[in-house]
Amino acid sequence: DNKQTINFGAGPAKLPQSVLLKAQKELLNYNGTGISILEMSHRSSDFSKIINTTENLVRELLNVPENYKVLFLQGGGSGQFSAVPLNLIGLKEDRCADYLVTGTWSAKAAREAEKYGKVTVIHPKLDSYNNIPDRSTWSLNPSASYVYYCCNETVDGVEFNFIPDTKEVVLVSDMSSNFLSRPVDVSKFGLIFAGAQKNVGCAGVTVVIVREDLLGRALKECPIILDYQVQAGNNSLYNTPPCFSIYIMGLVLEWIRNNGGADAMEQLNKQKAAIINDIINHSNGFYSCPVDAVYRSRMNIPFRIGKKEGDEDLEMQFLDGALALGMICLKGHRSVGGIRVSLYNAVTVEDAKTLATYMGQFLRDHQ
Ligand code: PMP
Repeated sequence: DNKQTINFGAGPAKLPQSVLLKAQKELLNYNGTGISILEMSHRSSDFSKIINTTENLVRELLNVPENYKVLFLQGGGSGQFSAVPLNLIGLKEDRCADYLVTGTWSAKAAREAEKYGKVTVIHPKLDSYNNIPDRSTWSLNPSASYVYYCCNETVDGVEFNFIPDTKEVVLVSDMSSNFLSRPVDVSKFGLIFAGAQKNVGCAGVTVVIVREDLLGRALKECPIILDYQVQAGNNSLYNTPPCFSIYIMGLVLEWIRNNGGADAMEQLNKQKAAIINDIINHSNGFYSCPVDAVYRSRMNIPFRIGKKEGDEDLEMQFLDGALALGMICLKGHRSVGGIRVSLYNAVTVEDAKTLATYMGQFLRDHQ
């Protein structure tokens, strides 16, 4: 029983208790088949139902237009750092792509894409990742094959609160850490991808939503399992898919639907982030988040304790104290240090309040 533990991890992350209980109940004998999903053929009618239901839930929850395919792929978000250029950089002969680098993950994606074409980093001189340079400073190439950005930078805590207007150029977004945490107008995008292990499931499956007219343009060296057209033509069953992860994603999506869908998730996520930001903003600098208030992520809030650059001893004490109260995985990413709170869909308002109460007490004890 893990009820006493609150997981604030950045991913893999907390799952709804009801999902875990249902998976447990169904684990040994799925739907009267006498076998586990873990043992089940991906060509069976039971699994077909699971993957179709999961796809339909993605479509329903995000109002995915008819002319988009929904794919369930392997290789994680990082696999998509390669798959995106392999499939899309050849959309135009020049093989150019613009990358808006606003944090650790978009920087990685840009570096990977350089293997396959000409990559322009739109604002290459950012000294730290704590805001999004004003739209008027971006110089986008109208003949780029696509513009890429990361909607929520999980490490740095920078989240787009708008959809970049790229005119006629195809827009691609990594939504790994804020997928289904709010509604999104899919029709503005050529492609959206997201690893499941934060807001919509467990590790092993990456959802890709791609506009149909972009299929069939992969470079000839594109590995076949990363070729969107091949996967789309095979209903994501070109090879054995991550069956269990797709099943878990289906259960989480059902839970999201039963709890009011993307709109309800957004309201709760706003509330949770406000609870934590409120403590940070009223701590007289004891807690400090480097991210500009407007671009502060609702999903991942990084902060330092004691002074701007962080007092590591105090931060250690904070983590130890949190752990003693059952609050785990609050350590910041190893590249930036400090503390990071992740508030994905399954984290409750109550969980956020429990942390805020502790933060308030820690402040009073150490200020
Ligand atoms: N993009 C973002 C925004 C992420 O947060 C992560 C993982 N934390 C990745 C990509 C990479 O995902 P994976 O580990 O599944 O390859």
